[in-house]
Amino acid sequence: MSVHVLYSDVFYLHRPLPGAYHPENPSRLDVAISAIKRVYMPQRIIVNSRINYSIDYLHYIAKVHDASYIELINSLCSTGNTYIDSDTYISRDTCRVVEVAVAASIKSIEIALSQSDTLVFALVRPPGHHAGRYGRAMGAPTQGFCIYNNIAAAALYAVDRGYAPIAIMDIDVHHGNGTQEVFWYEPTVIHIDIHQYGIYPGTGSIDAIGGGEARGTKINIPLPPYSRDDDYLYVINEVLTPVMEAVKPRAIAVSAGFDAYRGDGLSEMELTQKFYGFYGMLLRALSKKIGIGVAAVLEGGYSVGLRDGIPSFINGFLSDFKKYEEELKAISPSRKTVEIAMKIKNVLKPFMSIS
Ligand SMILES: [Zn+2]
Repeated sequence: MSVHVLYSDVFYLHRPLPGAYHPENPSRLDVAISAIKRVYMPQRIIVNSRINYSIDYLHYIAKVHDASYIELINSLCSTGNTYIDSDTYISRDTCRVVEVAVAASIKSIEIALSQSDTLVFALVRPPGHHAGRYGRAMGAPTQGFCIYNNIAAAALYAVDRGYAPIAIMDIDVHHGNGTQEVFWYEPTVIHIDIHQYGIYPGTGSIDAIGGGEARGTKINIPLPPYSRDDDYLYVINEVLTPVMEAVKPRAIAVSAGFDAYRGDGLSEMELTQKFYGFYGMLLRALSKKIGIGVAAVLEGGYSVGLRDGIPSFINGFLSDFKKYEEELKAISPSRKTVEIAMKIKNVLKPFMSIS
């Protein structure tokens, strides 16, 4: 059992415009790296800040995004110090940064595919799950700090290696609209997204289930503001776990956002260390079940969520995976959460047998 952490000093080079404050800034990486040092079993952590990757990985950018969009990003990078929209900046080195972020994300799944009982966590920035094929996805007002979709590239790589279906589990507080758009018609990618409804990007409703052959493979779990650990644990037990049992993914990639943590800054969710510890344990159990490692790619998380959520997440993975079932015994979700879980199960019934 081990945890690999991948990051690169290159990730510091994507910087907000001079003098402008932005929550998605290089100090996030410092917070995340110090959080890793607070894990209670440091001997189980392998930290690698030099990412050796094949140049072939970069071809995945063109598999996820349209050529016209990649061209636009390249031209904005050569200008530097600019915005692609009101939320999302591009600095002179951004193109190099986002390429290494995609490479690190693919590397994380490559390691995960070759090992058992392992969590491979890529601490990348900027995040990626709001970036769609052409940038803004599904009618969102902006790209929400994202340039290239890291998790989508990693998932496609796994599918190309024969690991299908793959499940992308997104716990960032915002809906992963970019990922959902990229795979909307792709039945080999199961996308399960728990998020706060009513905030950016405004998508992710229960009845958005994918298109064509992929209907029923996109699963949205929108929860109300002020949802707590027990609400998340409840929907995991009632929806996510039965879905995973029904679809039997061969690989798992996690869009690991920590911005649903209480007080993190960009949402009203109230998660604590309990949830992130539980989630780590859950991933360990899933990793055992599929017989290979699990890849996690950093999405959001802007303050306390990174500081306290990351150690709990890793400690959870390193602890006794059987405990996660015990955590589910005495939970008290809100009435609204129970209703939402029931609605989702009804929507999914025609596509899979879930109890
Ligand atoms: Zn987010």
